Amino acid sequence: MNETVAPPGAELRARAEIDLAAVRANVRALRERAPGAALMAVVKADGYGHGAAACARAAVEAGATWLGTATPQEALALRAPGTGVPDHVRVMCWLWTPGGPWREAIEAGVDVSLGGMWALEEVTRAARLAGRPARAHLKADTGLGRGGCQPGEDWAELVAGALRAEAEGLLRITGLWSHLACADEPGHPSIVAQLSLFREMVAYAEGRGVDPEVRHIANSPATLTLPESHFDLVRPGIAVYGVSPSPETGVPADFGLRPAMTLSASLALVKRVPGGHGVSYAHHYVTPGATTLGLVPLGYADGIPRHASSSGPVLVEGKWRTVAGRIAMDQFVVDLGGDDPGAGARAVLFGPGDRGEPTAADWAQAAGTIAYEIVTRIGSRVPRVYRNEGNEGNEGNEGNEGSGR
Ligand SMILES: *Cc1c(COP(=O)(O)O)cnc(C)c1O
Repeated sequence: MNETVAPPGAELRARAEIDLAAVRANVRALRERAPGAALMAVVKADGYGHGAAACARAAVEAGATWLGTATPQEALALRAPGTGVPDHVRVMCWLWTPGGPWREAIEAGVDVSLGGMWALEEVTRAARLAGRPARAHLKADTGLGRGGCQPGEDWAELVAGALRAEAEGLLRITGLWSHLACADEPGHPSIVAQLSLFREMVAYAEGRGVDPEVRHIANSPATLTLPESHFDLVRPGIAVYGVSPSPETGVPADFGLRPAMTLSASLALVKRVPGGHGVSYAHHYVTPGATTLGLVPLGYADGIPRHASSSGPVLVEGKWRTVAGRIAMDQFVVDLGGDDPGAGARAVLFGPGDRGEPTAADWAQAAGTIAYEIVTRIGSRVPRVYRNEGNEGNEGNEGNEGSGR
């Protein structure tokens, strides 16, 4: 997880500033959208690139009572001493493969997910060795067609097996859950179909005697736009970081959300060049006339998508500039149109967008991808610099202050 101390000067080249006050405010805004449900902040993939432990702490300060990860390793890391995640906070993970680590998860009190009989068999064996029951959520595939148990016979078999294990004291069925395929396309017909099948599969399990602590299906777009999907627990990820799940869902401000990450770099060079000068590999950009070029010391090794070559936006001294030609492994160039801000001038690739800078959504559009991928792939060579750490109490004024300047 990204809490290592950056080597000297690293943040001078480039840095990803993470505004933890924004994370806290986003979690509060999401809780207001789902007042009847508990909130699980999803912090998988190192908190979508923002740093899992720091964002987990901020989310918990703002009222999240669950944390969600994909892999068991991510969950165990949150449970390790020193992360500052309080013991009463539940940690759940869902991406299991044969071999576990089931026993470690059981012993750390991590909630696991079971989507099929192989997983039930492995977890009960581990619970017997651990001498205590596993906390397990049974996962229903209500239509996503990815993980989870198919409805019908498969679900009946999983529910019956889990109830047997519960009777033997090897399992506590803590949750019944599923995941939506198209919640980021409001009005998509699969949404009502999935919710209706989820209700049926929950009713079936409860009819056989399952008594879960939580039933849950809502990701960020569902938390924001589908109250009927909230059940007992909502599981937002991207919205915790203030990024909208999709242009169709809306912009962050529509929901009182603010992007937490600001990615910027220090120009490594500004120089004058004549017209007709090829720029970067393959010369896909040729200067249209005499101009100035700025060298931005970030590249695809840092997670800047190469597909945004010749299209990604960058704010330099109040003006939007565009990537000139290819994005290379460690650097790219912008045409500064004759301006000379000098080496060391700040180039802001993306941020909340309210100080004139582009957003992760703008980069997603430039690269033909989603904003999730833009923030999540920012590499480990870019130090995370945390702003507004610690819950200062007077959060009302905090949103605008010190955030990434
Ligand atoms: C990633 C993930 C989430 C969070 O999704 P967002 O769209 O980022 O809110 C919720 N549940 C599961 C199972 C996930 O894998």
